[in-house]
Amino acid sequence: MEDKRMVYLDYSATTPVKEEVLREMLPYFTEKFGNPSSLYTVGQESKNALSQARERVAALIGAEPREIFFTSSGTEADNWAVIEMAMARRAKGARHVITSKIEHHALLHSCEYLEKEGFDVTYLGVDPDGFVDLGELEAAIRDDTALISIMFANNEIGTIEPIARIAEIAKGRGVAFHTDAVQALGNVHIDVRELGVDMLSMSAHKIYGPKGIGALYVRRGVVLPPHMHGGAQENNKRAGTENLTGIVGFGKAAELAREGLVAHIEKITGLRNYFLEHARERIPDIRINGSLESRLPGNMNITFKYIEGEALLLLLDMAGVAVSTGSACSSASLTPSHVLDAIGVPVEEIHGSVRFTVGDFTTREDIDYTLDALEGAVAKLRSISSVSKESGW
Ligand SMILES: *Cc1c(COP(=O)(O)O)cnc(C)c1O
Repeated sequence: MEDKRMVYLDYSATTPVKEEVLREMLPYFTEKFGNPSSLYTVGQESKNALSQARERVAALIGAEPREIFFTSSGTEADNWAVIEMAMARRAKGARHVITSKIEHHALLHSCEYLEKEGFDVTYLGVDPDGFVDLGELEAAIRDDTALISIMFANNEIGTIEPIARIAEIAKGRGVAFHTDAVQALGNVHIDVRELGVDMLSMSAHKIYGPKGIGALYVRRGVVLPPHMHGGAQENNKRAGTENLTGIVGFGKAAELAREGLVAHIEKITGLRNYFLEHARERIPDIRINGSLESRLPGNMNITFKYIEGEALLLLLDMAGVAVSTGSACSSASLTPSHVLDAIGVPVEEIHGSVRFTVGDFTTREDIDYTLDALEGAVAKLRSISSVSKESGW
């Protein structure tokens, strides 16, 4: 076996900051430290940097700069969109929200909060590929439905939902539509005008930008109350002195993502297909979870029958390969993934499922190394589990 490498295959959990992004951020920690709200020159420089970043993020999704509101994270964008929209429409009698069972916890836990506040929430099921059923969605809409929130692409299994069609249904019934696009951003062509969405959540650290900075797109004309109260930042919608370095980094990452989108998709789709093809050849009894047609380019969620995913994760980690079981959020606990459960994977197979996600810094050599490590680790774990079965475990 060749020397131990470090292979990072968890790009859906987070990504490294690209050199160009870091370089653009650095001056805003030191010489360009001004507060964008200050009127003197060093403040105005910061204000200009803020505007440029807003334009770059807007350009990535086909929005206008004034429709972009920076937040502290994708999680904050999700909370803001869902909770404040529901609360605002409650004043007009709305009491109901529709979402899916496979959303990120940022969305699911916001909806659980709304339930405590007296809302009814419909959690739509999904088919074995992870798709929401549009007929079920339509049937779930009530006269008092405030909001529909369905994720653009799933973080665990990579399935891309039919967002334009959901937006059309919501619009036809006068219901606001939000989508969590944190995983789709930079991995799928997104044009908010073509899609017709009202609100869309984003995060920088999934697209080679820094952690702790996100944004919410709010279509012009959609009324969303602020959820942070204080200064006049973000057009009076989101108070608090701006995280300028983070915003500048997000802007640069968005620009790179837009310019490189086609090449990025081609590269990581190629790596993913290469991995899957060889994994299928070399390792028996595996299954790919999620849609094979409408799927994030870098995502592979694989069930390895008869083994524990946690044990596989540890063996791969010893070989220097970083992967995750289910989503990063549930990796600290052994609660089976709610996403794999929703697509009908039996509980023992959920525990044997591992997510590999490739990205811009992944190489063919990384994949070959991972396949070797994986083949060895799976064989080892399966031999142990058959021994323990025979010895009456
Ligand atoms: C990562 C992620 C989030 C949370 O974004 P943060 O910026 O890490 O808070 C929300 N939704 C999805 C689908 C994600 O993958």
